Amino acid sequence: MRLALSYLFAAALTLLGAAHTTDAAAGFRLETLAPGVHAAIRTDPPGLMVDANCLFIVNDDDVVVVDAPEASTELIAALRQVTDKPVRYLINTHWHDDHVIGNALWRKAWPDIQFIAHPSLRDYLPGTGAENRRDMITGAPQAAEEMQEQLAAGKNLAGKPISDEERASYASDIALVAHYMKVVPGTPDVLPDLSTTGNLILQRGSRRIEVRRLGRGHTDADLAVWLPQERILASGDLVVWPVPLVGGEQSHVNDWPAALDALLALKPALIVPGHGPVQRDTVYVELLRDLFTDITRQVRELRGRGLDLDGARKAIKLDDWHRRLAGDSAVRDALFRMYVAAPALVSAWNATAQ
Ligand SMILES: [Zn+2]
Repeated sequence: MRLALSYLFAAALTLLGAAHTTDAAAGFRLETLAPGVHAAIRTDPPGLMVDANCLFIVNDDDVVVVDAPEASTELIAALRQVTDKPVRYLINTHWHDDHVIGNALWRKAWPDIQFIAHPSLRDYLPGTGAENRRDMITGAPQAAEEMQEQLAAGKNLAGKPISDEERASYASDIALVAHYMKVVPGTPDVLPDLSTTGNLILQRGSRRIEVRRLGRGHTDADLAVWLPQERILASGDLVVWPVPLVGGEQSHVNDWPAALDALLALKPALIVPGHGPVQRDTVYVELLRDLFTDITRQVRELRGRGLDLDGARKAIKLDDWHRRLAGDSAVRDALFRMYVAAPALVSAWNATAQ
């Protein structure tokens, strides 16, 4: 994610409150999904800040890794507990820091490693990516400090007494900001050695690994990793739980349903999302597809009626989706408004203007 977290944070802080800091930042658990296939799944509660999941694919003679999160030091240590085989390839599913910033650490650990990603990373990371990172480095600590103050005051962002759920979420955000500030400033970008805009097959001994372009959705650079023998898919941020991470400028809400349909056509048994728990059925993916289809349809209709963006913002009906994704959780309510409702409208609006 981290689309424009600086502004997201600023917006969030007009809404939020904070708790005591916990050590949630290094938190992930390893889940073995098939022989040699291990997912490192983040255990943080839902919040504004995230770090990404990671997948280890241990082959006959080497290892292929999917994504290089901020917790890569801890992930490398965890992988070394699993195997002493060298990491040969690391696939970055897209360009956001929580999926690429660890590249330098993985190269330090295995100098011969090769990085695979969409070619647009080579443009994005030194340009827009560097700007967004600067904003994040200046904005996030201040945001965390304000959250800490709100926690101390026992209030949420709306100024109401803070719930246990919100307390845990804010504490996690603060810990993740601290971890981000420890890892990210000064870490060099490591750009892809190999790029693909289509399908790339890695045959590593008896293991077949396919780097798939399912379509664009979360970003222009979205790639997924498919293990056809095991029917396991690492989706990157095409699939994120508990709400999708949408960027008004960076995401393509109108194209996202087609990418998710391509994902569903693979009939995966297990989906490792960019963030959130392993999905063991396709119910959530179908919900996301239907959400983006509906937003695109509504925006087209509202434009057709001659409304401007402000008018569309008032007229669009997302209550049902809001209920399905947020339930009665105050944290998910804030996440839905911040990461779905506002940016998805902008993304769909921009697309229909073309
Ligand atoms: Zn992302």
